[in-house]
Amino acid sequence: MFRWVREQLSVRVGTVGKVSSLWETAAWGLTDQPSFLNQVLMVETDLTPAYLLAQTQALETEGGRLRREKWGARVLDIDILYIGSEVLDLPELKVPHPYIPERRFTLVPLAEIAPDFLHPVLQLTQQQLLNQCPDESKVEKYLADSQ
Ligand code: ADP
Ligand code: MG
Repeated sequence: MFRWVREQLSVRVGTVGKVSSLWETAAWGLTDQPSFLNQVLMVETDLTPAYLLAQTQALETEGGRLRREKWGARVLDIDILYIGSEVLDLPELKVPHPYIPERRFTLVPLAEIAPDFLHPVLQLTQQQLLNQCPDESKVEKYLADSQ
């Protein structure tokens, strides 16, 4: 699934640059739920934010459909974390993504590939955001080869 998304992004959105490791996090709440995997990608694109969102949403739908046939569950969520230093506050697209500072599973891969990138509103780097993140959930490198 991760490889498929990266390939689709490179065809439909733009050049995929840095790619984080896969990071595994235990699911919140009920412990009988499977853990989830996160990966952060840098993509260089000429698309406007609205078209970018349309493409990622189309991929979510298609990927969710593929996945559902095979495994019986939809588990694909593509979030737009940053668009350079742009700040957007539309109902359908908030950039920077509002939950970045409080989600370790987002900050760990961000700090892996872009530790010095500045959050355009908070004016803190990804590494600084991670250092001050109150989220205590465990985020571990996922070592299986299903990249
Ligand atoms: P979450 O990602 O918070 O678990 P969803 O993926 O179900 O929740 O949320 C999707 C909705 O969030 C979409 O309707 C989309 O328009 C909106 N949205 C707002 N900002 C963003 C963003 N930065 N990236 C992706 N979706 C966003
Ligand atoms: Mg989402």
